[in-house]
Amino acid sequence: MTTSISPPDKTVVPDSAHRESVASFRQWVTTQLEALENEPGSENDVSTQDPLERLSEIGPVIHTRPREQPLSVNEITKRLFSAYQVDGGNIHLGGCQLTDFPFLRLTFAAADDSSQVVHLFVAHDGSSISDELAVALGLLELEPATKPYPRIESLALNALIASGRRVAAKTTSSRDPQAVSSEPLATALVWVKQANGKLHFTIGETTATLPFSGWAKLIQPKPFVAEHSGAATFHLAATDDGRIDAFEQITACEITGERLLKDELVTCSVTGKLVKRSLTEPCPVTGKPTLTEEFDTCPVCQQRVSKSAITHEACAACQSLHKIKKDDPRLVWIMGEHAHLDRWNHWQLAETLEVYIAEATSLFKRLLVVVDKETLVVRHLATAGRFAKGWTPVLEEHRSELLG
Ligand SMILES: [Zn+2]
Repeated sequence: MTTSISPPDKTVVPDSAHRESVASFRQWVTTQLEALENEPGSENDVSTQDPLERLSEIGPVIHTRPREQPLSVNEITKRLFSAYQVDGGNIHLGGCQLTDFPFLRLTFAAADDSSQVVHLFVAHDGSSISDELAVALGLLELEPATKPYPRIESLALNALIASGRRVAAKTTSSRDPQAVSSEPLATALVWVKQANGKLHFTIGETTATLPFSGWAKLIQPKPFVAEHSGAATFHLAATDDGRIDAFEQITACEITGERLLKDELVTCSVTGKLVKRSLTEPCPVTGKPTLTEEFDTCPVCQQRVSKSAITHEACAACQSLHKIKKDDPRLVWIMGEHAHLDRWNHWQLAETLEVYIAEATSLFKRLLVVVDKETLVVRHLATAGRFAKGWTPVLEEHRSELLG
């Protein structure tokens, strides 16, 4: 044994936060042995033998499992399914696999109290594990594992035990890197179940998938993250065109009643209704989405603008004309295309998303020209007396006289 080949002064007694009374530990060992003896084919009657002595004779490890952990897929799915609400559809399991992973529990006599033992734990990959995780996984409350035990190669088992002994040596106050732990009273393999699977949410003909993975005892439902909106939710629903998304992200268009994602709906600047974006156009004056039937023609510039942009017989752009110099680049550009406009002075200008609205004043007359910002095509041309209220449109055949 390790103790017999190690110098006594380098043998250290490990410590751990996980303690148990010797009496309780012996009771656990007895329970483990009884389970083994009840196995078919067991020949030994050990009722008179000391349980710890008997334990050391049965092999390098005893096989155990947490007393409380899901043993079937059903127990896990019950917990997961209840977390989700699927409007107009259902949830089902798209596969689930339970796999046993071996954790190691080493038990030592406590250094400071002969009535206690301490337990040390090592994860399946040989790493030490936090006290919290050991408790959460149920590694302190063990019951005998039932045969057939999950398989573990002897090389892997030896490596795990060696890791356990290294972890044990580190838990002491010894600063000697050569120090080895004292012999454990018991070495137990704890088979911990890991669950891997998928949840399927089906509404109509569409199915969305949510994978899950983790220690079966600790697995918790996690929110479904919708592909389209990116929202995380436990409440799923579908749009009318069959896309599964978060219930909170789906709203009906107030015109068509169609259920769509919120970001596919806009508020109409005139009616205030939440409507499908494709039913609207941006108003060239306000830039705000507006239902196509909520546009009107501005009495001044004759452009199609949202009803809410027209007040006092003119759109907001026509009411916001401001003085500009004749060498304003926008005016220079317009005059480059329509040379006769250069005859006019005292210019004022306003812009919408689509047009320039320019007004010039002479001694007796005013001129209004509405020009497409991209093409410089004149969309509307009108004249008025210097002090007249209304505008008179210039007929097509007279336009060239004014524009050149
Ligand atoms: Zn206007």
